[in-house]
Amino acid sequence: MGYLLKKEGFDRVLAELGKRYRLYAPVRKIGEGRFTDTDVVRYDFVRSVDEMELDRKSDYAFKEILTPLSETLFFFTEDEVKTADRDAREILIFLKSCDMHAVKRLDQIYLDNRFADPFYKEIRGRVRFVLLGCQKSGADCFCVDMGTNRTTDGYVFSLDRTEEGFCCSVREESLEPLFAENSQETRDVEPGYVTENQTHVTIPEEIPNSIYGNPVWDEYSARCIGCGRCNFACPTCTCFTMQDVFYTDNGKAGERRRVGASCMVDGYTNVAGGGQYRRSKGERMRFKVLHKICDFKKRFGYQMCVGCGRCDAICPEYISFSACINKVNAAVQEENGREV
Ligand code: SF4
Ligand code: SF4
Repeated sequence: MGYLLKKEGFDRVLAELGKRYRLYAPVRKIGEGRFTDTDVVRYDFVRSVDEMELDRKSDYAFKEILTPLSETLFFFTEDEVKTADRDAREILIFLKSCDMHAVKRLDQIYLDNRFADPFYKEIRGRVRFVLLGCQKSGADCFCVDMGTNRTTDGYVFSLDRTEEGFCCSVREESLEPLFAENSQETRDVEPGYVTENQTHVTIPEEIPNSIYGNPVWDEYSARCIGCGRCNFACPTCTCFTMQDVFYTDNGKAGERRRVGASCMVDGYTNVAGGGQYRRSKGERMRFKVLHKICDFKKRFGYQMCVGCGRCDAICPEYISFSACINKVNAAVQEENGREV
């Protein structure tokens, strides 16, 4: 069923939902952007629709709610291991369509990748989603080409802000009375989705192994500074490392933390004996891009990248992931042409 609500009505819905869930949505952080006097949009706890940024895509992804950048998993002593306590409340996250598709990728990696990660599984079991209708494509978005511009399931209700008010399509039956008593009228509601992006990508059907030695990667050795912002902003990057923090000199008491990691940062491929794979930034870019548009698909049958464009927008060196995909495509076509 679809509903039209005024702001006051929608805030009453949020207040009621807030009794059961912690509500997370994109929030504009004034003056906290990369440059002076610029803002950043990131996920945070909200109570009212006024606190939500509904027009601009979040600069950082929602994944920090499911997989915090730094999280203590357990505490240990010589004789005992105790799992860290967690906030056990249920969580409701407001997501655009591309991010709903990113959830599928996170679930694939953490739940359906040989074994299920127990820490992710626990929090994932407490999370539900609200679909944020998307009226206007961002300049960097290429969700249409990635097939992630539309979502038809997996959410409890959708939210579109229109000139008339807040339009919601309610999917969870138990929420119908709450919306009915706070709405102005019922109506057919179809969540908004974009059908056209300015940015387009063409991913080659087959990417030959010869792409590894192609000079297409060389420019990134010169331009990329290995800061890892692209990975931390990406909703589908899942790499992490472990850190043990010792409370005693003998290392027999402490805590183990899971900490976000980046394949673009120095040290990511360090191994025992002083070895380091992918020393150049170009090699790291090659690994990241081919993971997103080739290797993940070979294993799971669909592309990892959802075309949200966050990595383009966040890069301090203005390195464009979508442009790189198209350069890879051109290089593959050129190689194919040479073979003919
Ligand atoms: S690689 Fe870039 S465009 Fe693709 S999902 Fe990650 S941040 Fe979004
Ligand atoms: S954000 Fe840009 S400069 Fe930083 S690691 Fe990623 S591609 Fe390199």
